[in-house]
Amino acid sequence: MRQNPIPYGRQNITDDDIDAVIEVLKSVYLTQGPKIQEFETTFADYVGSKYAVAVSNGTAALHLNAIALGVKPGDKVITTPITFAASANCVRYCGGEVVFADIDPETYLLDINKVREILEKDTHREIKGIIPVDFTGRAVDLEAFRQLADEFDCWIMEDSCHSPGGFFVDSKGERQHCGNGKFADLAIFSFHPVKHIAAGEGGMITTNDDALYHKLLDLRTHGITKDSSKFQNTIETAIGDDIVLSNVETYPNWYMEMQDLGYNYRLTDFQAALGLSQLKRANTGLNRRRNIAKTYFDEFKNKDYIKGQSGVIDGHAYHLYVVEVENRLGLYNHLRQHQIFAQIHYIPCHLMPYYRSFGWKEGDLPNAEQYYKHCISLPMYPTLKESEQEFVIDKVNEFYT
Ligand SMILES: *Cc1c(COP(=O)(O)O)cnc(C)c1O
Repeated sequence: MRQNPIPYGRQNITDDDIDAVIEVLKSVYLTQGPKIQEFETTFADYVGSKYAVAVSNGTAALHLNAIALGVKPGDKVITTPITFAASANCVRYCGGEVVFADIDPETYLLDINKVREILEKDTHREIKGIIPVDFTGRAVDLEAFRQLADEFDCWIMEDSCHSPGGFFVDSKGERQHCGNGKFADLAIFSFHPVKHIAAGEGGMITTNDDALYHKLLDLRTHGITKDSSKFQNTIETAIGDDIVLSNVETYPNWYMEMQDLGYNYRLTDFQAALGLSQLKRANTGLNRRRNIAKTYFDEFKNKDYIKGQSGVIDGHAYHLYVVEVENRLGLYNHLRQHQIFAQIHYIPCHLMPYYRSFGWKEGDLPNAEQYYKHCISLPMYPTLKESEQEFVIDKVNEFYT
């Protein structure tokens, strides 16, 4: 009956995207060229931050941020269990300890009250930071989190992988876009093909903090700087010649210094060109996502077997459209039989064998665990056709009636 499989998310590559990549492939720079900065500046403009740093993927962005924020063994960092594991793993890369706090069962986001309880019990002040996630594309109220973080001297790293273009409305009635750096110290995005902007692989860090920005630029490329105003060795050392010429006042052109233990987490220029080309269409894609959400909501709002719909929320970026259902496995298999590949986001991180090895277990985070029993993400991507969405809706209804 049906030919084309319908995934839960998928990229959209246009002829313009392909041309943009080919142009770079024919140019001088495949990496470390001008497209990187162009992508960074355009992206910073899009989210409203001062700076952006392009990196090789979202996980690299999380890792560099954790280093830049100084996470070290003995430090603790709070995050949500309902996220992709990388949000938590970045803390472990630096030897820190992950403290999962439960979610709000209405929004599925990190519950600020649970975070407060944990911080109030942290009498030795081992907790250094909070990583809230704009899960599904719904923006976390970072104004409230900032107040809390300031009270306990914590940093905030926003994981905005699901929410480019998303926003919340602050106490002054102003829109605060995800990753704009107003309340969080740092934010991260991913350009994996299932995300809003696809670059194959890719990531972006955004911030308004000058010091963190410069540190991240160095960390992304081996901790090496070519900026002579930052050099620590003397000019004599830099020249490395036996004969020290007393009239030499500048560092030689080849000279660079590795001042930190960095990585190669660079993005290539052709990926940046693809990201840039996709970014131009980001708002069109966002509007289409919101229309798809509205259609699901209208179709399911009176169906008692579909719960947990967020409605159509202002500022929601709709990376995912999650609903809660009974007999989730049954529905999942029924949809699969019809080539509809719904997905589950996410298996709670604290129940992954790796995190269980630190003592996490069932019952620790009841809201997250309850959510996981019922959640299912329905297909949501800009090129999902109306007829395909109708087919999905029909098959869901068919299963329950
Ligand atoms: C995709 C994703 C990441 C990781 O991004 P990659 O580019 O795949 O490394 C991190 N956090 C969340 C919430 C994500 O969805």
